Amino acid sequence: MNMENKSIWSKYLKETNFNNKEVEFDVLIIGGGISGILTAYYLRNSNLKIGILERNKLLNGITSKMTAKVTILQDILTKIEDNKLDTYLKSQIDGLKLLKSNIQEEKIECDFKDNISYLFTTKTSNIKKIKKLKPHLDKFIKTEFSNFNLDNLDIKCSLKTNNSYEINPIKYLNQIIKLLNNTTIYENTNVVKVIKENNIFIAKTNKGLEYKSKKIVFATNYPYFLKPLLFPVKVRLEKSYIGYGNTNLKINKNINAINIDKDKYSIRFYKDKLIYLTASRLIASKVNDTRSFDKVINSNYLTNIDNLWSNMDIITNDYLPIVGELFKNMYILTGYNTWGLLSSHISSSIIASLITKNKKYLKYKELFKPRRKLTFKKFINSSLNIYESMNGYIKGIITKNKIIFYSKKEAMYVDNNGKYYIVKRKCPHLKCNLIFNSVEHTWDCPCHGSRFDLEGNLLSGPSKEDIKMQKNVK
Ligand SMILES: Cc1cc2nc3c(=O)[nH]c(=O)nc-3n(C[C@H](O)[C@H](O)[C@H](O)COP(=O)(O)OP(=O)(O)OC[C@H]3O[C@@H](n4cnc5c(N)ncnc54)[C@H](O)[C@@H]3O)c2cc1C
Repeated sequence: MNMENKSIWSKYLKETNFNNKEVEFDVLIIGGGISGILTAYYLRNSNLKIGILERNKLLNGITSKMTAKVTILQDILTKIEDNKLDTYLKSQIDGLKLLKSNIQEEKIECDFKDNISYLFTTKTSNIKKIKKLKPHLDKFIKTEFSNFNLDNLDIKCSLKTNNSYEINPIKYLNQIIKLLNNTTIYENTNVVKVIKENNIFIAKTNKGLEYKSKKIVFATNYPYFLKPLLFPVKVRLEKSYIGYGNTNLKINKNINAINIDKDKYSIRFYKDKLIYLTASRLIASKVNDTRSFDKVINSNYLTNIDNLWSNMDIITNDYLPIVGELFKNMYILTGYNTWGLLSSHISSSIIASLITKNKKYLKYKELFKPRRKLTFKKFINSSLNIYESMNGYIKGIITKNKIIFYSKKEAMYVDNNGKYYIVKRKCPHLKCNLIFNSVEHTWDCPCHGSRFDLEGNLLSGPSKEDIKMQKNVK
């Protein structure tokens, strides 16, 4: 078996060669994932000079590792407060219209097709949560209770809708990137600091370069630069483990499904094979990586695995996106709670509306505003999560995979050829202890999701620095 330890979408990532000199802009977008790309897209007719600064390669962050289900039947619906649910649902319907019209108008080939979506529970105690959703959903899409069955799972209640789709997100976004005429793109450009001088923002990179702009948009997923606004206690991370391969599940392959229970199951098909995802909705630190990957590998659903990978997304404590103007001319869009395909369309449209002073999507401005208040209970919960994640994983990590944490400050991995890699053990972001991801061979931060390669180079997340030691490979 030839298994790849990367997402199925990664082969669609393009080798780009953006080599641009321009350094002054009207709008500077930091982050070239779906949020940053779509923000540039919705500003394409604005006559504004736009720049995108991307730390790695475009789309190579969380966006290239999603399962890519396009549905309104989302597991987070049961968590959103009743009085906010209808507006959130409406935003997703608008997000869907935007996605569909882009595909149609720009004639984008991205394996977009109809399918059927299910939301289910295996817990009797959660039946009422699903039942409560139906009247809300029926205001926007047609749903029905169904007798959905998934092999060995004892499903107690499920809702079904035909208003659901699947997509290849990278094929879609590769086409969108080609349409960004007024945008200059910089890859391998890591922004480490943003300052404001005489009403102009200056983004400084780790290589000492400076990019200036009248307006700035943070599309970095984790809002690493916002410590004063207590973001670490307003959001947490959910880590998921995903396998793609043949299945012996005897069900219609034109479906996707997700449950609302504590242990997450999500399935969809791509080219007749199964994408199967598990996660614990608890904080990442409570999950042992190896055990979680084993759960995918040993699942009855996959008979062989072509691709195996993990991914993390931001969960906000009210399960609503964080979108809007933070300070004058400084904007943010993030916090999609693992439902970024529709939320990013509506969020980038909101940001474009705010920048161009168009009122079109501002009806969601209040609900998603970044500086909304926390309730005390939510604050306590989030703080506990952080405390736990700081303490998690400190002890005896997986020596069977030849990883040895040999001091408080350093971590070491020895590969099968005896080559060893020493890195700093603490994440430069907020000093959490890193854990070794034995499948993708990365050092992952369980607190806020920064990831580093074996040699300590920063791959993704809020950290702005590498974790390299001076002489780290022998
Ligand atoms: C397991 C999993 C499954 C999912 N499945 C689905 C699904 O089925 N359907 C759905 O709708 N959504 C899904 N999502 C959610 C979706 O993938 C995300 O919400 C979305 O991709 C987030 O996009 P983004 O642009 O905000 O982040 P990213 O794609 O991570 O983009 C942010 C970019 O910013 C760059 N960056 C960060 N810091 C800096 C810096 N300092 N300087 C320069 N650049 C920087 C990063 O390198 C990155 O490329 C899933 C998420 C997960 C975790």
